[in-house]
Amino acid sequence: MLTNAPRGTKDILPQEINKWNYVEEVFKKHCARNGFKEIRTPIFEHTELFQRGVGETTDIVQKEMYTFEDHGNRSITLKPEGTASVVRAFLESKQYAETQPTKYFYETSCYRYEKPQAGRLREFHQFGVEIFGTNSMLADVQVISMADDFLKELGIKDLELRINSVGCPTCRAKYREALRDYFRPHLNDLCDTCKDRFERNPMRIIDCKSPEDHAVALNAPSILDYLCDECSNAFNDLRDGLDASEIDYIVDPTIVRGLDYYTKTAFEFITNQIGAQGTVCGGGRYDNLISEIGGQDIPGVGFGLGIERLLLLMENTGAEFPEEDTMDALIVTMGDGAKKYGIKLSKDLRSQGVKCDLDVMERNMKGQLKYADKKGYKYAVIIGDNELSEGKCQLKDLKSSTQEDVPFDQLLSKLL
Ligand code: ATP
Ligand code: MG
Repeated sequence: MLTNAPRGTKDILPQEINKWNYVEEVFKKHCARNGFKEIRTPIFEHTELFQRGVGETTDIVQKEMYTFEDHGNRSITLKPEGTASVVRAFLESKQYAETQPTKYFYETSCYRYEKPQAGRLREFHQFGVEIFGTNSMLADVQVISMADDFLKELGIKDLELRINSVGCPTCRAKYREALRDYFRPHLNDLCDTCKDRFERNPMRIIDCKSPEDHAVALNAPSILDYLCDECSNAFNDLRDGLDASEIDYIVDPTIVRGLDYYTKTAFEFITNQIGAQGTVCGGGRYDNLISEIGGQDIPGVGFGLGIERLLLLMENTGAEFPEEDTMDALIVTMGDGAKKYGIKLSKDLRSQGVKCDLDVMERNMKGQLKYADKKGYKYAVIIGDNELSEGKCQLKDLKSSTQEDVPFDQLLSKLL
């Protein structure tokens, strides 16, 4: 128990951190190029924020949240997703009073009580972006295009962009009725969750993961046949914009976000390379979410991208990662005088940007050299009493195993 991490959580060990640093660096680069500014919000919020901002009828709110009462009797929930907190921070800091749009990006851990499996954890991490304050489909195109550029730069193959429109509350009311008419004769074949969704939220039946429901849903009416003029025009604008940015996509009417404040654009980047949890990135427009949380009528669009699934996909498809960072030099010393000199030398070299160490295990000289070799140091800087009195060291290149005398005042230029 004491030496096992809680179910559904995973340590990110030093051996894998270079992969995380790499995708973070590339993501931040694309955010900067697109003018998104980073925002960091707390790991927990008032429970009500997610009840409102994610939706009472969602799986997340109904059964996946980590909710507890704090010592002041407040109901607190660990963030199950990123958008609600970002909206709260946007409203609280009154950013809407500034020149719009507001463009944020974030990286956050998320918490959902789910059945852990490959690509599905209880603590996981998301990258996300949001654009607030504009109805224009140019914003939707930018958000999608940024995700596409980012994923392409990582060398990811086997990822498909699927887009849809989920309309607005007006066109959706008619669509919901059509869905109920369609599913009513099949009601007994649906899973228990979907029986429940039938009245409350029939659009969620369409993206149910159970195979029987999936089969029935295949012939369900398409939302695209029910769009009002405004939503239909917006969908055309979205497609024109994606065509202009030369991004491949598939129109897929089964991509739904079954909540009233999701509007128009819905999209997912999907793969079949990481098992059942194939959605790496999901997003869309939510013109009624900000008003749901804060009363202000401000539109928004964004995405959330699961970092564990991203890395899994990269690993499974042989994407390349940069090599692990290596140390420049181990200062190998023999004798007390050399050891003291080494302390000062390592400090001076570090201040000049050299990545170096002394052997803090205090092994003998042979042991120090073996250690340097094993750990992949580029050089060993060997100092004994003789070297010290002559003002030089022996610099051993550990890859080629060649060695040369180097005066201390020339050491820095050899190492950098
Ligand atoms: P799914 O249908 O797979 O449960 P979702 O619709 O619940 O996904 P979103 O809420 O849209 O997912 O979250 C955005 C992204 O976060 C997902 O596309 C996925 O990459 C990632 N994600 C969601 N839940 C988990 C989880 N439990 N573990 C790891 N990653 C997750
Ligand atoms: Mg889920």
